[in-house]
Amino acid sequence: MGRNAAIIGGGIGGLTTAVALHRMGWRVTVHERQTTTPSTGTALGIWPSALRALDTLGLGDEVRERGCPQTSGALRRPDGSIIARIGTGKSGDRVHLLSRPALLAILRRAAEKAAAGKVADLRFGETITETRTLSERYDVVVAADGVFSRTREELFGVKARFAGTAAWRGTLDDAPTSTFTEFWGAGVKFGITPQEGRRANWFASAAAGEGDFHPGVERDELRKLFGNWPGPVHDLLERITEEGILRHDIYVTPKLPSYVKGNVALIGDAAHAMTPDLGRGACEAMIDAVSLAACLESGGLTAYDKNRRRTTQRLARMAGAASWMTRQRHAVPLRDGVLKVTMLAGPPD
Ligand SMILES: Cc1cc2nc3c(=O)[nH]c(=O)nc-3n(C[C@H](O)[C@H](O)[C@H](O)COP(=O)(O)OP(=O)(O)OC[C@H]3O[C@@H](n4cnc5c(N)ncnc54)[C@H](O)[C@@H]3O)c2cc1C
Repeated sequence: MGRNAAIIGGGIGGLTTAVALHRMGWRVTVHERQTTTPSTGTALGIWPSALRALDTLGLGDEVRERGCPQTSGALRRPDGSIIARIGTGKSGDRVHLLSRPALLAILRRAAEKAAAGKVADLRFGETITETRTLSERYDVVVAADGVFSRTREELFGVKARFAGTAAWRGTLDDAPTSTFTEFWGAGVKFGITPQEGRRANWFASAAAGEGDFHPGVERDELRKLFGNWPGPVHDLLERITEEGILRHDIYVTPKLPSYVKGNVALIGDAAHAMTPDLGRGACEAMIDAVSLAACLESGGLTAYDKNRRRTTQRLARMAGAASWMTRQRHAVPLRDGVLKVTMLAGPPD
């Protein structure tokens, strides 16, 4: 196999792949449709397995230093009583919360170092509309073009599927916290986590119809859903502004029969977008990238598919189950019991 790769998408998975392949001596071209990486955004939980993948690229410690370690965590009922505590993962390392822009900046800097050595070419503001031409020109094409991947549609005819749920998220300045808390109500969930820069990161989710947005009044919508909850959720909703609220419909990637077709490999959300309930999508995109680079050295694309498809599809199923539990409006005590038992097994770090 040759050593020339095109990467479609310069997000978390695409940039990580660029760094990983560069370290193996590959020549890489990244095509990213945005003209630059974002400068604002909410926090991502970076799990120990993803930190270990980043360690192999020499980037794990920078993420640990820039991010906020999650020192403790709990799932609580709306009144604050505890459903289950969240322990440290089996490896003893901690989840670190880091904003998407800060993570992308670390990855972009590392990829740019490769570009300075002329073995990588980062092309921002370039949208790829079909894969065939790239496939003919490069030894390997990496589709890291996210949940609405055109490459996946072109090669597998598979579109993203609406998951029946909406997510709201944002950050709050001057609200430092070191704990991760999720409050689970009937059919709804509200989370508060640390973020670098003395900020709190928050998110909420609830069952919703596709495209059922409330432009300009999302804060009222959140108050309708959560406003009578006492304590930190109520206090936070008092402080956030309408402009600071991001709302998304959540889409997932239907289960694919393979992550590889010809010389094209799908990674990250293009391959396995999952509901955000485990906070694993970005982590798995980075692990895919490191695994793909290693497989290109030994084993090839078939080995990558074998290494990553089963694990990530299992995580996507678990995330879907957590989303389903969130949406349950009835038998809430039973649901909480199941949650407690699930958390006793410890997080899959
Ligand atoms: C509410 C919410 C909370 C989340 N929380 C977490 C968390 O705590 N931890 C975690 O690990 N994950 C989390 N995730 C998931 C995470 O955001 C995604 O899994 C991750 O961004 C996937 O990375 P990616 O590189 O595959 O795709 P993306 O980050 O979407 O990157 C895809 C890139 O491809 C580019 N692109 C698309 N099409 C083209 C094209 N045709 N040509 C050129 N460029 C193109 C896009 O512009 C984009 O830059 C969360 C997601 C949501 C919605």
